[in-house]
Amino acid sequence: MSHPVHARIDGPVILIGFGSIGRGTLPLIERHFDFDRDKLVIVDPDPALADDIAARGIRHVPQALTPANFREVLGGLMEPGTGFVVNLSVDTSSLDLMRFCREQGVLYIDTVVEPWAGFYFDTQDNADRTNYALRQAVRDEKAANPGGTTAVSCCGANPGMVSWFVKDALLKLAADTGRDATAPADRAGWASLMQDLGVAGVHIAERDTQVRLAPRDPGVFVNTWSVEGFIAEGFQPAELGWGTAETWMPEDAHRQDRGCMSGIWLDRPGANTRVRTWCPTPGPQFGFLVTHNEAISIADYYTVGSPADPEYRPTCHYAYHPCDDAVLSLHEMFGSEQIQDVHHILDVNEIDSGIDELGVLLYGHEKNALWYGSRLSNEETKALAPDQNATGLQVSSAVLAGMVWALENPRAGIVETDEIDHARCLEIQKPYLGPVEGHYTDWTPLTNRQTQFPEELDEENPWAFRNTLAG
Ligand code: NAD
Repeated sequence: MSHPVHARIDGPVILIGFGSIGRGTLPLIERHFDFDRDKLVIVDPDPALADDIAARGIRHVPQALTPANFREVLGGLMEPGTGFVVNLSVDTSSLDLMRFCREQGVLYIDTVVEPWAGFYFDTQDNADRTNYALRQAVRDEKAANPGGTTAVSCCGANPGMVSWFVKDALLKLAADTGRDATAPADRAGWASLMQDLGVAGVHIAERDTQVRLAPRDPGVFVNTWSVEGFIAEGFQPAELGWGTAETWMPEDAHRQDRGCMSGIWLDRPGANTRVRTWCPTPGPQFGFLVTHNEAISIADYYTVGSPADPEYRPTCHYAYHPCDDAVLSLHEMFGSEQIQDVHHILDVNEIDSGIDELGVLLYGHEKNALWYGSRLSNEETKALAPDQNATGLQVSSAVLAGMVWALENPRAGIVETDEIDHARCLEIQKPYLGPVEGHYTDWTPLTNRQTQFPEELDEENPWAFRNTLAG
C-alpha cells in the first residue's frame, strides 16, 4: 500500500487525547501529512501514557483540559493562524475548544460533540442530556458565527463516515432503480433524491464480531473503543431522528421544542433499548438504540420542507450490536445497576478474529432495503495500519479524511460530515476500510416474527418504528 502525502500542515499539530482513537490516528497523521514533527504535541492527563509518548519522541503535556485552563494550556501551544487541533479526548467541551480554535485561526476536528466532565451524569433534565441538545449548541454557534476558520464536527466513523456512506448508497440505489445517479450539488438536491427514492429511514447498522479467546472476567467492562465514552452515551436517553413515515410514537417519547426539530428522545437509556436491524454477516439482529449525533444530523440534512412541519424527513437511528464482550458487559451493568470499575479496550493483538461491520441500512424503498458499509476485519487492519483494531481504523481513517478536507477548505466555518464533499473524503478513507459493499435484503422488521405472544404491530407498514422497537 502506498502512503500518499495529502497535504502540508503549517504550525503545531495538537492532539488532545491519546486513547484508543488518538493512538490509531497518530500513525495516519505521520504517514499522510507533511508537518514539523517538533511541533507535534499530545495533551493527555493519563500518567500511564508518559513513557510511550516519550519513547516516540513527541512532546507531552500531561494535563487534563478543564473549563478553567483550556485557553491557557492550548493558547500556550498554538501559533495563531496556523496549525491543527485534533480533539480525540473524553471530558472536554467540543464547543468550547472549537470556538477557541476558530478565534485563533487554528483548524479543528473532533469525532463527537463531547461535553466537559460531569455533564453526562450530573445533568438533571433528560432533555438537556440528549445529543440533540449537544448538537444544537454547535449548530447555534455556526448560525451565530457563519464562515471563518474550518472546524469539522463529529468526523469519526459514526458520527462521520456513515454520512458519506448514505450519499454513496443513495447514488447506488438511484443507479440500481434506473434513475439519474449524478451526485446532487447541494443539500436540497440530496434531500429530494432521498425523498424521490422513497427511503423511509436509515439505520446505522453495526455488528462488531471482534472476539478474543479468553472469556470476559465478571466486573470488567470490555469494548473495542472507549469504555468511558460508550458508558456515557449508553446512559443518555435513547434518541432518534423522527421521520414523516411514522404513524405511532412510544408513550415515553418526547419531541424537542426548539432548533432543527428533527429528533425525538425516549425516557430510557439507549444502551438498554433494543431495536431490530439487519447486517450482512448476521442477517437480522438486535442492536441498541444508543443516541448518536448522526441520527439527528442525517434526519435534519435530508428534511424537505419546514423543520416543524416537514413534507419529508427520514427516520434515522443507530442500531449497534457491539462486540459480544461489550453486550455481556452492558447486561451485567444494567442488571447490577453498577458501573464496573475495571475497563478494558480490546487490543488489536489480543483479538483472535472478527470484523467491524459498520454501514447504513436504507429502507422502505422499492428494493426494500440496502445495507452499504465497511466490513473491515481485525486481521486486515493489522496489515493496513499500526496501533488499532478494526473499530479504531474506521474512526481514525475518517479523522484523516476530515483533516485533508479541512486543509483543502480552510475557511468553511463549522461543518458536519453531511455538509462536506463525501466523494473526496471516501477517496482518502477507503484504502483503510477493507471491503466496502452494498447488500440488498428482503428482510423487514416483520419477517419471521413470532406470533405466540400478543404484540401490537403495524402490519401495513413493515418498517414502522413500532415494529423496529423491541423494548
Ligand atoms: P479513550 O477512553 O480510549 O481515550 C480518551 C483519552 O482522553 C484518554 O487517554 C484520557 O486520558 C483523555 N482525557 C480524559 N480527560 C481529558 C481531558 N480533560 N483533557 C484531555 N484529555 C483527556 O477514548 P477513545 O476510544 O480514544 O475515544 C476518544 C473520543 O472519540 C471519545 O469522545 C469517543 O466518544 C470518540 N469516538 C468517536 C467515534 C466515532 O465514530 N465518531 C468512535 C469512537 C470514539
